[in-house]
Order: sequence, then C-alpha cells, then structure tokens
Amino acid sequence: MNVKILLAVALLASLAGHAAENSIAIVGATVIHPERELPAAVERDRTVLITGNRIVRIGPRAGTRVPAGATRIDGKGKWVVPGLVDAHVHFFQSGNLYTRPDVADFNAVVPYVEEVARNKARLPATFKLWLASGVTSVVDIGGPYWNFEMRDAARKSSAAPRVAVAGPLISMIDRPKLDLGDPPIVKVTTADEARTLVQRELAYKPDFIKVWFIHRPGDDLAAQEAIVKATADAAHAAGVRLAVHATELEVAKAALRAGADYLVHSVEDAPVDQEFLALAKKNRALYCPTLFVVMGYRYALSNTWRPTPAERRLADPQILAAMGDLARIPPEKLPERVAKAMADTASPEPSAVELQNLRTVWDAGIPVAMGTDAGNIGTLHGPSVFRELGLMVQAGLTPLQVLRAATVNGARTMGLERELGTLAPGKLADLLILDADPLADVQNLARIHRVIKDGQLFAPEELMRSLSGT
Ligand SMILES: [Zn+2]
Repeated sequence: MNVKILLAVALLASLAGHAAENSIAIVGATVIHPERELPAAVERDRTVLITGNRIVRIGPRAGTRVPAGATRIDGKGKWVVPGLVDAHVHFFQSGNLYTRPDVADFNAVVPYVEEVARNKARLPATFKLWLASGVTSVVDIGGPYWNFEMRDAARKSSAAPRVAVAGPLISMIDRPKLDLGDPPIVKVTTADEARTLVQRELAYKPDFIKVWFIHRPGDDLAAQEAIVKATADAAHAAGVRLAVHATELEVAKAALRAGADYLVHSVEDAPVDQEFLALAKKNRALYCPTLFVVMGYRYALSNTWRPTPAERRLADPQILAAMGDLARIPPEKLPERVAKAMADTASPEPSAVELQNLRTVWDAGIPVAMGTDAGNIGTLHGPSVFRELGLMVQAGLTPLQVLRAATVNGARTMGLERELGTLAPGKLADLLILDADPLADVQNLARIHRVIKDGQLFAPEELMRSLSGT
C-alpha cells in the first residue's frame, strides 16, 4: 500500500471514529411525530440516530444498525418527542413578587434594582431550568437592550436553550418604575418616533420587533393603529417580524390590520369573530394564548400560589423559596393592590373567553404556539410550561394538538421551522426522551428521562443539582 492510500485509510478511520464518538442512539423507543395525525403520529420500536447536532436516521429497531462507539440509550418503554418551545418568556423578570413594581410595588422590601441585577447574574441558572423542563427553545418577546447580551450568552453557553429575542417594547405608554436606565418599555407618540426606535433596535439584529399595544378608553384607535403600522412597515422592510401584545378584540384586529405577524396573548374581552380570523389568516399570524399568566399574578398576590409537583422538582429553588414571602412582609409594607388581592377569597380560574378563543382559533387553522409569559409574577421559568399545557387541554385541544403547538408551531415562532419542531433526518437534534406517554396525559411531558439539545445530552436531575448552592 502506498503512503497516499495509507493516509486516506487513516483519515477515513478517524472520521468514522469521530462520528461514532459524537453519536447517540436511542434504541427501540416510541417516536411521536406531532406534525402528523393519529395513528401515523406514533411509530413504535424505532431507533433514532444522532450524529453531531443532527438527527441522521429514524428507522425500525431491527433494521437500524447502531454505530460502534455511539452512546446507546435503551428506548424500551420510552417516548421520544421534539424539544418543547416556549414562545413567550421574559428573562428580565424572575416570577417572584419583586419583578414587576409597576404592577405591585415591593421596592420597600426588595429594591427593583437588586431584583434586576439578580436576574442578570442568574441567567446561566435560568437557562438550565428551561432545559431541565424539556424546553430547548424560547422566545424572549421583549425586554431591555441587555436582552441581546442574554441571547449572546445563551449561544455561548454549554447548557442553554436556543433563544430568539425582541428588544424593548414599543408602546403608547411608559412604565417609569421599570426604568433603570435601560427600560424594557419605551413610549412613542408619533410614527416617526416609532420608526426611529425600530431602526435603533434593528442594529442589534432582533428576531422580532414588539409592540405593547395599550388602548385605553378615550384613546384614538385609528391614530394608534397608524403608529403600529409604521412600526410594522419599518420592521418588515428589514425582514423582521412584528409581535404585538393586544388583548382586546378591537385592538387585536387593529394590530393585524397594521401588519402583526405574531399575537403574543389571547383575545380576552370577547369571542373572536370572522373578521379577526380572516385578518389573522391573511397575515399568516401566529397566536399564543398565555392562559396561565394572569392566574399566576392572582395566586401570587393573594398568597395562594402553591408549587405544582413539576415546579417542586424543576423550578429555581431561590424563586420557590421567595414565593411565600408575602406571609412574612409586614402589612404596612404591602402595596394597596396586594392588600386587595389578599382580601379576595375567590380562587383564580382560567378565563372562559380565552379558552373558547383558543378552540376557535385552532379550529380555524391559525397556528397556535404554546407560551407561558414566564418571568411574570407567579409564572416561573421552566416548569410553568406544564401549567400552560394543562390549560390548553382544558380548552379542548387533544394532547397531540397541544404537543404540536409546543413544537411544530413553536419552531415557526423561532423562525426555525425548517430545522426544528419535528423528528426527521437532517433536523437539528433537539428532543426529549420521556418515561411516560405524553399522548395519554400531557403532564407526562414533565416525566423527562433525558433532554437532547443540539446533539448534547442532559439529565434534568443533574441540571437541577448543578444549581444547588448557587
Ligand atoms: Zn409578555
């Protein structure tokens, strides 16, 4: 053999060895394809092969050879689903009582400046919480300019979800209590101001421009719509999508007429009508119901917030410990709003209109993405997804439909629908290995054996252990 051939053989051997070392084989699992209908959505006794950060093969166990050197995971009695996407989170907020002084001002207990500093310093831990809950991608749909640094940090981190991001919310109103020099919400009063702000944000390459569309009695809706349209046009000219917070039917319609690509909350004041559905379809808009977040505020501010079993295992221990603080705060330090909430003995219930609208929107064929609005008071980073998934089932969606919202449609929200959200050769290797069938009970999505993100293998309990003492 001449030297050239020897070298070629050595190179091939090293490549093969390299591939096997970076390979994972899940052998004999039930694979769920959320983009399909039953029964095709479920494939039993399959082997999933991952090399590097891609899925390379999914085939019958009997006919799929596991390369020597691959990390082998026994898939017997396990289910494999795509990694979840939370399409609505905020990393500048923690979920505790001190995180929204514009809603409930606890500055006398914990200064907001300390709270935000904590949230920034805590990012590496917060990233791990998401992975531990099976969420391999999140959309941070608005915050201070340091949101863009957060996205960079997630990209460089060895244990973080993929992150899509919006910068400061463009709004009709401001929130001075949230302004520490880099406010998450910026008020504009003219179309020109909106265009200028969009240009400033575009310099950071945002995944979305976000409008916080607040319409109060007496406001001129047409004039507001014109400002939102100027914002949308400026974003679209740069190829960036527009996300809008618009929670009333007339405001949501105005947002869609102005060009919204993504409605980040339910319509909460009235049943959606044909005009709304037609506008949403015309824009190919995504709809994120965020059913739990308002309940989270109500539980937390009335001191009736209690962790779910998933939250006991998978929430940030620092935040869990702080959720009971209300009982320890002297009454004279309680904000008026909280005193009122504590006197209210009615238990928080999901909004019937929001549940009904979710069904109507789903049945009309508008893509629904699962999102929690995590970071708001009472909605914790990571395991709050299991509360949201449960409410979507309560709205009448099947577990398969809910899974589709949390994977296929989530990937669309990320702008990664070609790469993520389904299980197929060539796709990025973001997936969950579960100990129980998520189509039998959507809460089984919390029973995670392993998480694979970008081809990297994680065990939830190890991720959580790595947080203790930090
Ligand atoms: Zn939000």
